[in-house]
Amino acid sequence: MDPKKIGNERSTRDVPLGFTAAAAAARRAFRPLHPADAPGAMSAPALEHPPPVARLDGAPRRLPKGASDPISQRGGGCECDRSKGAIVLFYAYVPIADPASLVTELRATCGSNGVTGKLRIGREGINGTAAGSHVGIDAMIHALASCAREPRLAAAAKSLDYKRAPGCACLFDDLSVRLVPEIVPFEPSTGGAKSARKKRRGGRHATVGGDDDGDERGTETDASAPSAPSAPVPCPVGYLDPRDFHDAVRDRAASASTSDVVILDVRNWYESRVGHFEGAVLAPIRRFSQLPEYVESNKTLFHGKDVLMYCTGGIRCEKAARYLASLGENDGGGEKKNGDDAGVTGRPRSVRQLRGGIVAYARDVLGAEAGAEAGAETKSAYKGLNFVFDNRGAVPVTSDVVTWCDGCGARSNRLGKCAGFGCHVILVVCEACGGGNGDANGEARVFCCGSCEAQTIARETTPGAKQKRKPCECDGYESRRRRLLPTPTPGSVG
Ligand SMILES: [Zn+2]
Ligand SMILES: [Zn+2]
Ligand SMILES: [Zn+2]
Ligand SMILES: [Zn+2]
Repeated sequence: MDPKKIGNERSTRDVPLGFTAAAAAARRAFRPLHPADAPGAMSAPALEHPPPVARLDGAPRRLPKGASDPISQRGGGCECDRSKGAIVLFYAYVPIADPASLVTELRATCGSNGVTGKLRIGREGINGTAAGSHVGIDAMIHALASCAREPRLAAAAKSLDYKRAPGCACLFDDLSVRLVPEIVPFEPSTGGAKSARKKRRGGRHATVGGDDDGDERGTETDASAPSAPSAPVPCPVGYLDPRDFHDAVRDRAASASTSDVVILDVRNWYESRVGHFEGAVLAPIRRFSQLPEYVESNKTLFHGKDVLMYCTGGIRCEKAARYLASLGENDGGGEKKNGDDAGVTGRPRSVRQLRGGIVAYARDVLGAEAGAEAGAETKSAYKGLNFVFDNRGAVPVTSDVVTWCDGCGARSNRLGKCAGFGCHVILVVCEACGGGNGDANGEARVFCCGSCEAQTIARETTPGAKQKRKPCECDGYESRRRRLLPTPTPGSVG
């Protein structure tokens, strides 16, 4: 069975429809696991040790479209001395005049220096994570910082926070350098949430991630928009350094019931469920572009509040913060037709982003790039794993296990994948339940929901059936929301 990187989940825009005989063969032997019948379904057994950290397998190949790949627990799976290399995570919102040429140049520089990873380049900037030898990574950074064609990028690249951590080229299967319209996809191409779309202006800001000295930047008003009867109250957007963010989270925890502070995790649900800041609101979104849909249906949660926002490395907050701050701009001063939420636009009083994201927090507050060190549990306001988009899968910030297996309800943070055909939903699948997920020799399998399971079984038991995959209930919010509840819900799978 061909493993594939989990990072693809992030860019999956819709449920894949394809299916192949090869993928089917890998799943032939099945014995559906019914969560309610599984041992421990109703009560999570106490843990003596934290479960093994979830790891993703990575082998260099691309699966046929629609095939669902198992997530192996073997991790980056190499013998390299990672102190001899590095993985970096960085972004810069800075206008790039000729992104196509930069793509060509970086592809050549990284390729000839054995650097792997994913670089996304567009007119709005660059977003990248790359791994290789120190020499190779330095060559890539030098190429950015000395790019004569792009003086603004070159200037920014000299002082970026690259969030360098020990690593090796095996952390990615290959090198992917691509020209994209958005360096982190936020604007949906079709469908989904509707009304906030036109107002969003996230990508236009020239911001250098992690190194913007201006702590607070007022929001821009859209000069081309028709003038509103009364302008909404400005919502300042700014950054907090990791230590200040830590203090703010702790302050909020001390007065949670009366606080006007909302901590918002803007990552996808399968990321935030395995680790998050204390007291954070976890958005039940499968893709970042669904965030507006979520916010629009939960406006009162954010309206007039002070929002503390975070993501993995900071880049998603750049767009999410500006989106939140822009709410209500075209609503005629906040007047709504619906009497129930008249004036409720969802626009916060202020938005502050964690500068450098969870990666910078772990480094600067806990003193480790990947922790679970002695004392981290009490010191850290972030609990659990930090989901990453390389072959490490997720790295521990603390050893806390904050979620549970989708198959049996036992506490676990072992990443797995739905066993359904063509399904890419990332789940938590404990060791006991996960033996056979996607594995021809396996026994039990865990499915994201009953509709996915039923489709898969129908397909496997109907010879020659070639029906396309239909959307399952996980394409709606409810099943994701259930998985983010603070305690396991019996029957929450299916
Ligand atoms: Zn290696
Ligand atoms: Zn389980
Ligand atoms: Zn599924
Ligand atoms: Zn499903």
